[in-house]
Amino acid sequence: MKHPIKALLCAVAFNMLLFSCTKEIKQADDQQEIPTEVINKIKSEGFSTHQVRKVKDGYVVEGDIFLSNQWLNEKSKSTVLRIAGTEQYRTNNLITGLPRVLTLSISGLPATYTAALDAAIARYNSLNLRLSFQRVASGGDIAIQYAYLGPGVLGQSAGFPNSAGNPPSPILLNSNVIGSNPNQGWLTTIIAHEIGHTIGLRHTDYFNRSYSCGFSNPNNEGDGGVGAIHIPGTPTAEDPNSWMLACSDGSDRPFNANDVIALNHLYGNTSTGSGSVIGVSVLSNGAILGIGLDNDLYTRATLYSPWAFVPNSGDVIGITVMPDGTILGIGLDNDLYTKATLSSPWAYVPNSGDLLAVTVLPDGTILGVGLDNDLYTKATLSSPWAYVPNSGDLLGVTVLPDGTILGIGLDNDLYIKATLNSPWALVPNSGDVIAVTVMQNGTILGVGLDKQLYTRATLNSPWVHVQW
Ligand SMILES: [Zn+2]
Repeated sequence: MKHPIKALLCAVAFNMLLFSCTKEIKQADDQQEIPTEVINKIKSEGFSTHQVRKVKDGYVVEGDIFLSNQWLNEKSKSTVLRIAGTEQYRTNNLITGLPRVLTLSISGLPATYTAALDAAIARYNSLNLRLSFQRVASGGDIAIQYAYLGPGVLGQSAGFPNSAGNPPSPILLNSNVIGSNPNQGWLTTIIAHEIGHTIGLRHTDYFNRSYSCGFSNPNNEGDGGVGAIHIPGTPTAEDPNSWMLACSDGSDRPFNANDVIALNHLYGNTSTGSGSVIGVSVLSNGAILGIGLDNDLYTRATLYSPWAFVPNSGDVIGITVMPDGTILGIGLDNDLYTKATLSSPWAYVPNSGDLLAVTVLPDGTILGVGLDNDLYTKATLSSPWAYVPNSGDLLGVTVLPDGTILGIGLDNDLYIKATLNSPWALVPNSGDVIAVTVMQNGTILGVGLDKQLYTRATLNSPWVHVQW
């Protein structure tokens, strides 16, 4: 991935770049004029000191990031967040006061820019973040304005959110370079990129700018003393096509999967952890299926993806997935219901009550926890329930890949029994959970008393909060 982009950059016209590699010599001269204390300050904040440009009231770094004199003089801004090995985002000085709508106005630019702004706003708003955007005719929280920024420079951010949690303004766009009727996807990406800075996002490839920009001096500034948090579940390699790559290759870059994770981490409804659920299971494709606090179903592709609402999926209190992929739910009436696929309607299973929890044994036998907290089995969906002697007292149940039955006791601790007729054995340090399932890789996934997701790699591993 690196070399084709690098090759492209050497051949590409000026107007394909956020900043131009052929300006390096001139910029190197300019840099002599930047005071050492300013260079050190920029470095200490974790930004590249390569091609720093002095502009009115501050400096531009990394091509399009405006750092005001005031911002540089504020106290150091601590940590950045890493998503993938090359992605990081400032976590301090984010937009606050969520949920919040930021308004944007645009002036002095061709009509195609307004259309691209609307498209960029739609990209953000489609994520249903707690931060959304709206275009207004004038006087927006963030003004987008024309400015001639020099050859090869497409745009300039207004900087980052201030310590009061408000966005900076304005965003400057250089229509001399971008053109009056450019590719709309590309222009949408440029605008979404500059908006990204105003809500606190850094360049994706900050640690390896040559990845998108095609030069490497210096390639990696280190973390600038500000620290970095890697988000588990995301790759550590370069992440192609992020909308926050430092340099544009002229292409459209809609949010990729990691971009979505980053935005959800910063501004999503799940930003304080794994989202609240009361039940959990795993679909045939490995995706996680949860029961929300509203008793509706939600899915997430991975442990670290955002939850997605499943329409018409309520109201259930328990859930499992049968070997053939059929989803088996317990309704608010404690009876069983099935749906063939996520989007199928629920179908009532006659004579199937009264249950608190349900799972399926490897041989297809349905195993339920009754209202008396004891276990019951039914060979098929239409068979009658059969009582399992000495099987109480449970709140929930699942089955490990080897057939071991894993139950949640009334004390919210985990218990195992090798077979249906074995005695229960306490799993040490396994509380406190209200629901449990097993992922396809054998990881045990539990819902804590706080309704958050927790994993333990093996029965005897400690619980780890799923947090991103
Ligand atoms: Zn940028």
